Amino acid sequence: MSDKSVTSGYIREAYKGEKLPKKVRVFDTTMRDGDQTPGVSFTIEQKLRLAKQLDKLGVDTIEAGTPIASEGERKAIKEIVKAGLKTEICALARPKKEDVDAALATGVDCVHVFISTSDIHLKYILKKSRKEILDQAVEFVEYVKDHGAKVEFSAMDASRTDLDYLKQILQATVKAGADRINVPDTVGVITPKAMHGLIKELRPVIKVPISVHCHDDLGLAVANTLAAVEAGADQIHGTINGLGERAGNASIEEVIMALHTLYGIKTNVNTKLLVETSELVQRLTGIPVPPNKAIVGSNAFSHAAGIHAHGVLEFPGTYEPISPETVGHIRRLGLGKLTGKHSVVKHLTSIGIKPDRKQALEITRKVKELGDKGKEVTELDLLAIAESVLGALPKEEKTVELKEVTVTTGSTITPTASVWVSVKGEERKNSATGVGPVDAAINAIWGAVSEISNLKLKEYHLDAITGGSNALAEVTVKFEDEKGNLYIAKGVKEDVVLASVDAMVNGINRYFSVRKLKQT
Ligand code: MN
Repeated sequence: MSDKSVTSGYIREAYKGEKLPKKVRVFDTTMRDGDQTPGVSFTIEQKLRLAKQLDKLGVDTIEAGTPIASEGERKAIKEIVKAGLKTEICALARPKKEDVDAALATGVDCVHVFISTSDIHLKYILKKSRKEILDQAVEFVEYVKDHGAKVEFSAMDASRTDLDYLKQILQATVKAGADRINVPDTVGVITPKAMHGLIKELRPVIKVPISVHCHDDLGLAVANTLAAVEAGADQIHGTINGLGERAGNASIEEVIMALHTLYGIKTNVNTKLLVETSELVQRLTGIPVPPNKAIVGSNAFSHAAGIHAHGVLEFPGTYEPISPETVGHIRRLGLGKLTGKHSVVKHLTSIGIKPDRKQALEITRKVKELGDKGKEVTELDLLAIAESVLGALPKEEKTVELKEVTVTTGSTITPTASVWVSVKGEERKNSATGVGPVDAAINAIWGAVSEISNLKLKEYHLDAITGGSNALAEVTVKFEDEKGNLYIAKGVKEDVVLASVDAMVNGINRYFSVRKLKQT
């Protein structure tokens, strides 16, 4: 650990004399265990897209799915194999001929053969003896090896398996040719200390890389995974955003960042792509991560309290264990009742407004007052407050003005929108299609302004303000510019398409006004 480290000094003391691995392999199972998340079912196109992203991210193995499960699974895995990625592609199979044949037929590099080894699973699920299970595992590890693929063998429910039997079956599969063995805490019932002890027991008798696969039923998946690495595990299983069966698997981004930051253990992962990958998985699955999720949550690098914001402005290491750029995130200083003068001044100077000390105090007081009313204070609110204290600010620019918008939609035609706008005084017409009329209208607006802005639409939110089909629709959009600044704008109309277009136009104008302020 370097002297510049902003992590705890107690770490060095705690690991004195211990031999930690220099590097661990990362085995991503977002598309297999993550696909078992209640409510998630990746399509073929989604799997291919995600595989390409995971390859770019730099994980060492992508577990692409379970070929025996369905025709779609087999097709998706074949497509991924065909894509020629540099990452190892793996598929899951029980030690049964039909499973293994289906896996081999996809052309994967590696077959992940698994079978339960705990007495509770043997008794209630498999209804077989330990000897029968061992023989079955060995037979199919050999079978895969005979067909030229690699094997990772998992002793399912290993954390509840008799230690002597676990050693016996793992050694037997290694002898049969298994390239790696995996120790799953399938039900999430082990503690970090016990996991450490288990891997310490296995390490001397297993001559191939040892992997761990932890579930988060008691919120310990990441801690148990790290404990296994401390004890000598060579590979970790995990999923993006911690998706997976029940409470999910170890969140791969958390494990990776803990390894890099706290242990100085390397992986092949390009951590700068972690947030981007997390966002893709959120979009594909429709499962957003909570804002306070470590590493990738929207608040992971937001500082609300005045004391914290002040500290971070002086030296980020005061309150940030890792810098947001390391994972492709953005630092934000939130505004609200806990905001201090330093944050307010920082926000205002970044948009070209320089209040004196007294004015800054007054603006801060008003920001707190608004925050006390339970409101999130947006940049728009801050500008309104600044204006009330400092007098007139430069007028909001109307860079983009909407002249007309028409949409056609129906059950048998592709929704299409045409817009007529004036952009910096120049009239433009543009048409686009979309999945619905709102999407088409938004695409048409984007097309019309694409040359003048690099904005990204981060959020789109629709509320019906009053009941009934004639309700007012309130659309909120959140844009992000190339520097990560956020612009929130609203549009309110009886018509959802018009409200959406209004919100878009307001947001784009807001961006240009703020940019102009910064230049003056
Ligand atoms: Mn699992």
